[in-house]
Amino acid sequence: MSITVPSTTPATTSLITPGRQALDSALFQLDQAADRLGLDDGLRTMLATPRRSLTVAVPVRREDGRMDVVQGFRVQHNITRGPAKGGIRFHPSTDIHEVTALAMWMTWKCALVGIPYGGAKGGVAVDPASLTTRELERVTRRYVNEILPIIGPERDIPAPDVGTDEQTMAWIMDTYSVNAGYSVPGVVTGKPMTLGGSLGRAGATSRGVQIAALKAMAGSPEGRTVAVQGFGKVGALAARYLADAGCRVVAVSDVTGAVVDASGLDVDDLRAWVAESGGVRGYRRADTLTHAELLELDVDVLVPAALEGVITEENASRIRARLIVEGANGPTTPEADRILADAGITVVPDILANAGGVIVSYLEWVQNLQAHSWSAAEVEMKLRDLMEQSYDAVAETAAAQGVTLRQAAHLIGVGRVAEAHRLRGLYP
Ligand code: GLU
Repeated sequence: MSITVPSTTPATTSLITPGRQALDSALFQLDQAADRLGLDDGLRTMLATPRRSLTVAVPVRREDGRMDVVQGFRVQHNITRGPAKGGIRFHPSTDIHEVTALAMWMTWKCALVGIPYGGAKGGVAVDPASLTTRELERVTRRYVNEILPIIGPERDIPAPDVGTDEQTMAWIMDTYSVNAGYSVPGVVTGKPMTLGGSLGRAGATSRGVQIAALKAMAGSPEGRTVAVQGFGKVGALAARYLADAGCRVVAVSDVTGAVVDASGLDVDDLRAWVAESGGVRGYRRADTLTHAELLELDVDVLVPAALEGVITEENASRIRARLIVEGANGPTTPEADRILADAGITVVPDILANAGGVIVSYLEWVQNLQAHSWSAAEVEMKLRDLMEQSYDAVAETAAAQGVTLRQAAHLIGVGRVAEAHRLRGLYP
């Protein structure tokens, strides 16, 4: 059976958006796992369909007095294993399909790493760089107000994603708390430390990418060459941590451009340049290359750490990296997956490789609920344990079943959610 999901937006155009492509990929992966798990049609449809899907209008007063209206979304894909959990993305091309795909991936990710959450994602179709800080604050607070009835520390807990950060989380925490009448730190994760954030959360996704990459390398990381696509919250620190482990980061890119130095980039110097100039473009201690060339470099490890759908049927056969570690969600399409598998390229899939973020989000939430805080070393140890256990489980399943790491990760994630559904039964 192939799965179709009822759309909340009418099909007014036949254009396949990147969001629709991401959702098609997510549904394909679910279908494949469901086949192997032998799930019946009813359960498949249940798992393919978001539990709640909210589209809201977010009116925003611009500095010049005009009012703009942007669309916002919050999709709770699954809440069977616990409260919904997942980030909020501010990006001009986000849509309900993309947010649904990302929410579904969160469900499998949380199940895979064994934390008691379902999966959710939020999005606002806005370019944060086009807004002043005050406009951004107004957009955030109004969006939160619109989704207020469905979020909460026991219902649905947002976090940062593309285009949002600690400050955004602080505004979310404040808006929710003012409405509640008391401080509710557990409503959101990725907060500043002062408001109940966790030590280690800021670098958690990147630390998880490093842990997964080192596991997958099997052997010394010393001198292994790395290219990182996306030099933002995840990619920049992943580059840093891989360099710390002895790898040679030879190329990085972001929206502004791409730079390469075969003898190895000075990651901290590059981060300082980006902090000052807003992007890697113009960095003079390296040569430039195109975005396409970066993905096709002859390196040991490629870390896609930006958006979905960058490794596709079109460029997969030109990828020369031996190992791909997905810092981003959904960077590889199913067609590309097949080409990479045939070429013997190992892909550590997103729901495993980038799970460090939500793992430390979970640790932050547990600390908030207990009004307690752990040391950086305690957080780091718990993160490492969960990442390594999850990696080992995926690698074992892949070997036992003769499937890719992505297929194994989905078998475990989807299987655990299906099992939770079976145990809870159907009400009424
Ligand atoms: N946005 C991150 C992700 O895609 C983190 C989600 C969270 O911490 O809830 O995994």
